[in-house]
Amino acid sequence: MRKFEGTTLLVATHNAGKLSEIEALLKPFGVSVVSAGSLGLPEPAETEDNFIGNARIKAHAAAQAAGLITLADDSGICVDGLGGAPGVYTADWAETPNGRDFEMAMKRTWRELEEVGAPHPRSARFCCTLVMAWPDGHDEVFDGTMPGQVIWPMRGNLGHGYDPIFQPDGFDITFGEMDAGLKNEISHRSDAFRKLVAGCFT
Ligand code: IMP
Repeated sequence: MRKFEGTTLLVATHNAGKLSEIEALLKPFGVSVVSAGSLGLPEPAETEDNFIGNARIKAHAAAQAAGLITLADDSGICVDGLGGAPGVYTADWAETPNGRDFEMAMKRTWRELEEVGAPHPRSARFCCTLVMAWPDGHDEVFDGTMPGQVIWPMRGNLGHGYDPIFQPDGFDITFGEMDAGLKNEISHRSDAFRKLVAGCFT
């Protein structure tokens, strides 16, 4: 396992919220972060059919372009009754000409489960892959998951994305009904970040 040596980590995102979340997480390790967006780096096409492949594309493209150690992530929800869909297309299912509509994406998820007559409980998992890439082409990969089930109707208006239809295992509330503190402790993203910190920052 290769450790992060240096002080500045490039984060391959154009999303300011994601950047500040990662900044807070890595501050205790004396790491400062800069985003691909602020360096004006282009966003590469995510052409792979799996989370690791797409996170690798983003991490290596930015590491090569800027000559900095780079962190990228890819995430989504995989529904067993739909053969793992939407998976890497999780955000795509919400796309409309006027921006993202997650209610539409959640309705599609449930409709397709009904169409195939998927058995209950309708198991699913949120997945998050983090990739650290070095300018010499080396990388380290960390996978986080949170198993649960897709429920209907939607419940809760906390969180984002598909949170209102996802009930994590061991809880009788959805991510949409869960306060951010608890969600951050148990989520696929925190699982992946714990592994990243243990692997590259301690
Ligand atoms: P990306 O990794 O930023 O491309 O996001 C992938 C998609 O997965 C986004 O559209 C999110 O809505 C969805 N997603 C990822 N993590 C979560 C989560 O914790 N709750 C709800 N939706 C999520």
